[in-house]
Amino acid sequence: MTRTPGYVGRFAPSPTGPLHFGSLVAAVASWLDARAAGGEWHVRIEDVDATRTVPGAEDEILRALDALGLAWDGPVVRQRDRTARYAQALEALRLRGLTYRCRCSRREIADSGLPGADGIVYPGTCRDAAVPATESGAERFRVRDETVAFEDRVQGRVAQQLADDIGDFVLLRRDGLFAYQLAVVIDDADLGVTDVVRGADLLGSTPRQVALQRALDLPTPRYLHVPVATRAGEKLSKQTLAPAIDTAHGPAWILAALAFLGQPGVEGDAAAPMLAQAASCWDWRRIPRRTGVEAPDPAAMDGGGSR
Ligand SMILES: [Zn+2]
Repeated sequence: MTRTPGYVGRFAPSPTGPLHFGSLVAAVASWLDARAAGGEWHVRIEDVDATRTVPGAEDEILRALDALGLAWDGPVVRQRDRTARYAQALEALRLRGLTYRCRCSRREIADSGLPGADGIVYPGTCRDAAVPATESGAERFRVRDETVAFEDRVQGRVAQQLADDIGDFVLLRRDGLFAYQLAVVIDDADLGVTDVVRGADLLGSTPRQVALQRALDLPTPRYLHVPVATRAGEKLSKQTLAPAIDTAHGPAWILAALAFLGQPGVEGDAAAPMLAQAASCWDWRRIPRRTGVEAPDPAAMDGGGSR
């Protein structure tokens, strides 16, 4: 075990449903990486997109983490309490001339933009149109015509040409909600996060976040993207109705998460001591260098009772 002075990690679930295997893997990986380094681990509820919040999901997630022994440091951070900070950051970018108002509808963008790395590339229609801020619309970040690259601890070098792959992206949505990309950058900086460990579905968002960190003179954390859990090739998510983790079978789920992450098995019949043992032999170099790995069959997790 190598202690990393000042290590601060986090787990940042969206309250769109209960904890499922895909989110458990991200929680276990970030917890183990933090604890193996002797660092802090924080929990942040990513509910900036209030339209996706499912009532009760936040409590369910926190109860599941607690029952599995994934203990966190400090108070739980909630994005819904932090909009004033996002507004400050947007204003700082505005003062640097890095934002502009966009009045394009979704339909107009779909009709005029080309497919890119993450949906349609915004074609820059309003970039030089000087749309007044009083007009209803979104606020976009003016990307530079440059390659943004970072070195992921597991996935290796990731690079995007933001202008071609993404286009000027949204910071403040037309409906008045702040965009995830801005919120996550401010949240990580305010928590002092040194290490982001999360699912590879966010690999393609990272260059946007790095670009915002640079524009706001914020440090760029180290990144480690673990494979996402898939079933029959599809990402396991709340949308694909992935089953909730049944914490009554905590040890089986912990073992499944460790196996998924390429880690050796541990002995025990209670989740918390098993996790402590796993932290002492955590080796992130054993994580599969892939963006997706098949999830275990949930029927194998219930102790065999209902097969
Ligand atoms: Zn526009």
